[in-house]
Amino acid sequence: MKLICIGRNYTDHIKELSNERPEEPIIFMKPDSAILPKEQDFYIPEFSNEIHYEVEVLIKIKKVGKHIDEKFAHKYYDEVSLGIDFTARDLQSKLKEKGLPWEKAKGFDGAAVVGKWLNASNFENLNNLSFSLLKNNEEVQKGNTSLMLWKIDELISYVSQFFMLKKGDIIFTGTPAGVGKIQANDYLSGVLEGQELFTLKIK
Ligand code: ZN
Repeated sequence: MKLICIGRNYTDHIKELSNERPEEPIIFMKPDSAILPKEQDFYIPEFSNEIHYEVEVLIKIKKVGKHIDEKFAHKYYDEVSLGIDFTARDLQSKLKEKGLPWEKAKGFDGAAVVGKWLNASNFENLNNLSFSLLKNNEEVQKGNTSLMLWKIDELISYVSQFFMLKKGDIIFTGTPAGVGKIQANDYLSGVLEGQELFTLKIK
């Protein structure tokens, strides 16, 4: 399975990193080895002094598809969750400067936190889900899927033009503003529509 991540999908986050607003969705991948095993603490890797959290809504693909029309995209998933796209921001900035690929900064071991999956049918409208990330019980990121530049079904349609989607693939749909650095002993938790979907200790 693969993790397909969308960059710069919320205007407020584009501004905070002084990035340009993209004309098309920005896609990158993480290998499946990036998934942090359940119940495991996150260890800050030695190669970075600036690991940032990015809380994101996740969609799990349930069947094979390519060139999926936006109007049929909803047939390709029925589970939604919340996760973290951990990013070695110092490393990413260096790579970006040189125009090099981001994988080392985004795809390292443990760089993908995947929360508990919920049935999408629990929600009236996936394009109006509020979510937040708490660090040491203080809210540090807050978003709503209504503020995405490209909505879930548009993303699935777009991504599937390039990459065949397979059962079990996970889409990270981008982060809102408020990204920031973690430190040892931090405690993170992610909340989607009032439900806590993951908790995490930083070591
Ligand atoms: Zn991200």
